[in-house]
Amino acid sequence: MKEFDVIVVGGGHAGIEAAIAAAKMGCSVGLFTTDKNAMGRLSCNPCIGGSAKGHLVHEIDALGGAMGLIADKTGIQFRTLNKSKGPAVWAGRCQSDRKLYSQEASRVVQSTTNLEIVEDTVVEAIQENNEIAGIITGKGVEVKCKALVVCSGTFLNGLMHTGMTATKGGRYGEQPVVGLSASFEKMGFVSGRLKTGTPPRLDKNTIDFSVLEEQPGDDFPEPFSLRTPKELFPFLPQISCHITFTDKAVHNVLEKGFDNSPLFRGLIDGVGPRYCPSIEDKIVRFADKNQHQLFLEPEGLDDDLIYLNGFSTSLPEDIQNEAIKLVKGLENAVMVRPGYAVEYDYFPPYQVDLTLETKLISGLYFSGQINGTSGYEEAAGQGLVAGINAALKIQKRKEFTLTRGEAYIGVLIDDLVGKSTDEPYRMFTSRAEHRLVLRQDNADRRLMKYGYELGLIPKEMYDELKERETLISLSNKIVGEARLKPDAANRALEKNNSPKIEQSETINKLCKRPNVNLRDLLNQLDKSKYPLAEALLKDEKAMQQVEIEMKYEGYIKRQSDLIIKMEKLENVQIPLSFNYKDLNTISMEGREKLHRIKPRSIGQASRISGVSPSDISILLVYLKN
Ligand SMILES: Cc1cc2nc3c(=O)[nH]c(=O)nc-3n(C[C@H](O)[C@H](O)[C@H](O)COP(=O)(O)OP(=O)(O)OC[C@H]3O[C@@H](n4cnc5c(N)ncnc54)[C@H](O)[C@@H]3O)c2cc1C
Repeated sequence: MKEFDVIVVGGGHAGIEAAIAAAKMGCSVGLFTTDKNAMGRLSCNPCIGGSAKGHLVHEIDALGGAMGLIADKTGIQFRTLNKSKGPAVWAGRCQSDRKLYSQEASRVVQSTTNLEIVEDTVVEAIQENNEIAGIITGKGVEVKCKALVVCSGTFLNGLMHTGMTATKGGRYGEQPVVGLSASFEKMGFVSGRLKTGTPPRLDKNTIDFSVLEEQPGDDFPEPFSLRTPKELFPFLPQISCHITFTDKAVHNVLEKGFDNSPLFRGLIDGVGPRYCPSIEDKIVRFADKNQHQLFLEPEGLDDDLIYLNGFSTSLPEDIQNEAIKLVKGLENAVMVRPGYAVEYDYFPPYQVDLTLETKLISGLYFSGQINGTSGYEEAAGQGLVAGINAALKIQKRKEFTLTRGEAYIGVLIDDLVGKSTDEPYRMFTSRAEHRLVLRQDNADRRLMKYGYELGLIPKEMYDELKERETLISLSNKIVGEARLKPDAANRALEKNNSPKIEQSETINKLCKRPNVNLRDLLNQLDKSKYPLAEALLKDEKAMQQVEIEMKYEGYIKRQSDLIIKMEKLENVQIPLSFNYKDLNTISMEGREKLHRIKPRSIGQASRISGVSPSDISILLVYLKN
């Protein structure tokens, strides 16, 4: 019988990262997926990144993952969001060519050594003595493995709704997966139901773009990946999106369909994403709003489909059609495919550990939508962590986890495990309490060392980072010491409309002023006295780091101090076998939650809702004993 070290179930965003990581780390990997041609398919909007999601893509890239590279290769519009705000919330976003994204994902997976793609559906997982042993496929094939990473997306018992019509399916045109959920439930896992939705697709040739507001990409687009050669980027011609709005007349038509809405008629059991509501949800929840913004996003360069972002719906098809025709610019639009909602099984994520290994079955990992998240980037980040840990477990190496102070991926997994979720979880910058430190511009400085140690980042790249790190640290010292005389300083200050100075001042102090940038100040510095300034001027990335650290010095220091304090609590470990049931002095709720979640550390325990500070003090005493 065939055997793999690691079997990955599902070739979506989580599965791709899990499979590539485990294979690159030296494991033999079988990636089982129902349809080879659907690898990395963008189920909903053809877009990667965005607020907080862009941060995740940069982190995945710094750890050696594939998403950033694939997005760079196939992006048809790149923008950095929130550029007028502080660097903590700058976020890369790209409009992707849907077909090319999937093709490129497939190419990357296929070109990975140690990785075999098997086109078959996994319908059962096999365990022996609470350890994973293998899988059984829909074709009746049994395959052994030492670790199993399940990345099944929206496919477990998937049910799609448009109006009163419900069709079995995990995604438009694709069958659901039946059997696998039951196999996990038999092992003792608890499952739940969630739902998500997608808007209609329109024929580009039937839209009047001339009356709509155009939204072009950035003039100087930035790639996600550090491995993308800047001189070749962007790889594809760049396009614009367009903006339009619903109005009261559109809402009135949509309301006519509420009687036949599966959402309002209670036909959908699954809980939907609060932060990404359907258009019918928006009309009800924000009844005082007379309009909602819609983005018309092309699905590809060689594709006539337009994705109507903001109009996700499961209302009847005729109602969707009638309402769309009342939207400015869409009067003659042909709806090629109606919007729909999909319900699917998930496994509440308190059942996994910070490594994404399940607590019940050793060697079994869950990642992506199956853990209750929604979004390609959230899935990919988890897939990477699960794949890495599956490989480390087999190789009997130390497990890999990230803290909340290190990465958005750390925040994501800590939230999932500690708070679990009963609605689709998506990442926001507001979820990260240390977001000033967790910027997308410094993802490499935070995480690349791990990617390198794990064997996912090449040595030359890591060496380059270390060299830059030296330049940054020397420059930090110099900008604190080097002073500009009024003549020189005022040339830079005037250029940026900043008040002049009369006495010489350090670069550091001057750069803290709003609008004043480091490049202008360095240009005024005597390079024969400060040769390092020349090197810094030539390294855009290093200069950006020095500038951000100067401008936000106070805030960054405060957050870094807090992270150090917090990490002290993270270092007080709790054994997984710790018996909370006998701790009578801890509150009943605290005891139940601690027993259910089995936190790894006092830090993690203290973030569980229902576990009070006094519970933590008692726990500390017990641990000491
Ligand atoms: C209709 C719809 C609307 C969505 N709307 C949004 C949205 O608005 N915002 C948002 O952030 N996200 C949305 N999503 C979710 C987004 O697509 C997912 O979060 C993301 O794709 C999850 O990645 P994944 O790797 O977990 O699974 P997926 O990308 O779903 O990939 C799973 C893959 O695994 C395969 N597979 C599953 N089970 C098995 C099995 N047992 N054996 C073999 N192969 C298997 C499937 O065929 C598929 O190729 C939507 C998804 C759908 C379907």
